[in-house]
Amino acid sequence: MNPFLELGIRHEIVNAITELGFEKPSPIQEKAIPVLLTGNDDFVGLAQTGTGKTAAFGLPLLEQLDFSFNQPQALVLCPTRELCLQIAKDLEKYAKNLDNVHVVAVYGGANIGDQLRQIRRGVQIVVATPGRMLDIIGRNAIDFSQVKYVVLDEADEMLNMGFQEDINNILSETPADKKTWLFSATMPREVRRIAQNYMTDPVELTVGTKNTGNENIEHQYFLIKAKDKYAAFKRIVDYYPEIFGIVFCRTKIETQEIAEALIKDGYNADSLHGDLSQQQRDKVMKRYRERNLQLLIATDVAARGIDVNDVTHVINYSLPDEVENYTHRSGRTARAGKTGISISLINVKEMSKIRHIEKIIGKSFERKQVPQGTEVCEKQLFALVDKVHNVEVQEDQINAFLPQILESLQDLTKEEVVKRFASLEFNRFLNYYKDAPDLNIEARESSRGDRDRDRDGGGRRTSKGFTRLFINLGSVDEFSRGEMLGFICNNSKISGKSIGKIDLKGVFTFFEVEDGEVNKVFQGFQGVNYNGRGVRIEVSGEGRSDRGSSNGRSRGGRSSDRNSGGGRGDRRDRGRSNGGGGFRDFSGKRRESKSRY
Ligand code: AMP
Repeated sequence: MNPFLELGIRHEIVNAITELGFEKPSPIQEKAIPVLLTGNDDFVGLAQTGTGKTAAFGLPLLEQLDFSFNQPQALVLCPTRELCLQIAKDLEKYAKNLDNVHVVAVYGGANIGDQLRQIRRGVQIVVATPGRMLDIIGRNAIDFSQVKYVVLDEADEMLNMGFQEDINNILSETPADKKTWLFSATMPREVRRIAQNYMTDPVELTVGTKNTGNENIEHQYFLIKAKDKYAAFKRIVDYYPEIFGIVFCRTKIETQEIAEALIKDGYNADSLHGDLSQQQRDKVMKRYRERNLQLLIATDVAARGIDVNDVTHVINYSLPDEVENYTHRSGRTARAGKTGISISLINVKEMSKIRHIEKIIGKSFERKQVPQGTEVCEKQLFALVDKVHNVEVQEDQINAFLPQILESLQDLTKEEVVKRFASLEFNRFLNYYKDAPDLNIEARESSRGDRDRDRDGGGRRTSKGFTRLFINLGSVDEFSRGEMLGFICNNSKISGKSIGKIDLKGVFTFFEVEDGEVNKVFQGFQGVNYNGRGVRIEVSGEGRSDRGSSNGRSRGGRSSDRNSGGGRGDRRDRGRSNGGGGFRDFSGKRRESKSRY
């Protein structure tokens, strides 16, 4: 017996979804459908996008609404126009064999007159984005008095997008005894609050672990220098000739720049961001869906609700500011039981962000090496060979030319012909990657390390008149050297001029302070916490400028002899121009946001 029938879904619907290729329920469907079919409970389902949520709530809705009368009985709220259209379309497909089912999609950026007309004609299911829904409610154009079910789909995204107030207002228009079904990929406090405020004893279901990304996603990161990012990105893309990816940037400008650079470099790419008109967005999405684009470069907001199956890679060209967005981004791949790869391009400072994401999603990232030029060439060569092997030959078209082609090539052996065909494409990559450097950070570091040593005269000597101090914060705490300078100056209330070399390490930093200012540093950092950790300052084992007195890592014996020092280069100037106040707020407390790194 068909497992959907066993769950209690009627034949007509099962036949329709079988045609869509649904053979057995996905995990969320298997768990949610029996609960929702009772129609007695509020419901909270924690599941990623692409797990089959639409049918999980859609099938029970179709089972329970009374289609013999034409009044709104179910309202589905979702964050974006794309998702709204998708859900409405899906519901219509599931209901294909049922009579008199009317679904309307209500979303912004489209003619409201058409939507109002459809509502007037009579609908039972309204799928809507919150803004347009409120607009229609405000016109008194809809009667929600018969609504039995409200579905909040991708609730976390709706709240991220600032729809909290709109949702409250819409819900207040629906009958008190309706049932509310909430689906969310993550469960931040705000979503939990909705559940508390609007639901009674909801049945809670989680597919996978809470906050955990889809199991079928492999999370990888590449450690590179910021300046090598674009080159490394292209190399990774070239390494996957069949890539069908979404590339996430943090800003519209970055999105545009990357897309333009890629187009110039001959890639099938385009950008999707908030400055595009709805028409332009639709056009880009159509090209992407139809696979005329291989790479879609998008901002988080623009990519919300993108529902394209078979995305092979999500590339975080820049990591998102909010950890939740990482889950949303990576959830664009590995949909409908497929596998996918989520790649992050990061520099050393961003390692702490990766660790933080790992904690939240409960999965480890694997560090990958940026492929060498030769590896890319090899990959491309074999992709080409595969293409030749699989190309569809249009016999009737090519046959007419075949004798002439064979004649032109008759002086070549089979091997020579093969070599030449392969070289047509292969040469391009060989030329491009000729002398391509290793972009992995160790390789870059070791060559730079030599240079630095030369410049520093071969050692880490403390400058004259300065004391070398240790602080238990470093690049993994997201400090650049400039930021560390600001942090020290702000807390110690000393000028940037008094700070010498700053040697930023992973979990700690050495920095030089004019001997006369050392006490201020110790005083300034007393009791300071950073990210919940006590900040610790010590005199570095290497000691002070008057080398020879070995203070070890103790706080005692600081010298008071003052020396003007010198030769500290531009950092000193930077400190001065910033006056100690122009840095990020590193007053020791750190921004407090649930979801930031
Ligand atoms: P959704 O999370 O509802 O957007 O679904 C993601 C994709 O999985 C869509 O393309 C659905 O058509 C597909 N899908 C949903 N349920 C099933 C199922 N039981 N079997 C096969 N495919 C499914």
